[in-house]
Amino acid sequence: MRLRNIPGAEEAILNSEYCIKNPEEQKGHWQDCFDKVQPLHIEIGMGKGRFIMDMAALHPDINYIGIERYSSVLLRALQKMELNPLPNIKFICMDAADIAEVFAKDEVDRIYLNFSDPWPKDRHAKRRLTSRQFFARYDQILKKDGHLEFKTDNQDLFTFSLEEVPEAGWKLDASTRDLHHDAVLNEGNVMTEYEEKFSFKGNPICKLIASR
Ligand code: SAM
Repeated sequence: MRLRNIPGAEEAILNSEYCIKNPEEQKGHWQDCFDKVQPLHIEIGMGKGRFIMDMAALHPDINYIGIERYSSVLLRALQKMELNPLPNIKFICMDAADIAEVFAKDEVDRIYLNFSDPWPKDRHAKRRLTSRQFFARYDQILKKDGHLEFKTDNQDLFTFSLEEVPEAGWKLDASTRDLHHDAVLNEGNVMTEYEEKFSFKGNPICKLIASR
């Protein structure tokens, strides 16, 4: 994702009621941030947040948290949120490498990873959000019967991710390399910003669902 340094992004985030400051203080108490106690789904690397905001509007019976590393990107989501407020969504600006410092054991019901950065060099494999190192972090926060959903158009990253699932001791529940032509997995699919861009170019979209 091309990044521009947006002046005032950090300050705007600090002032937004949708962005949780010092998220590690919320560990074990995320439900207190929402009007209703209901399942908690998170998206890691949400970018400008289109997917998670559409999901929150469609599913008022779920609480959502969007996580994005860059304040300049997260700011775009917050601006959209101010125009269309929703009670069941919050955001965190953080590096997901620290995710186990922020959520308690069994606190998260579902994890979404959409079009995660591929980190193509082998020596950077452990930075991929579907690496065994990240699955080990998800192990610490995801409920026993929870699951993870991952979408990408990057075939190499998808192959790597399919291999990492069993390596991490997880179970592959379903997968496809052509989501938009898979009647079962595509049912109810909500497109992400990158998904729309890459499928418009003709790239097939891959998806896997994995559980612990
Ligand atoms: N999920 C969105 C979509 O599908 O349209 C955005 C995809 S974009 C390629 C990946 C996003 O993940 C970027 O905004 C990047 O900053 C964020 N990201 C990558 N690694 C991250 C990490 N370790 N922690 C938090 N965010 C991360």
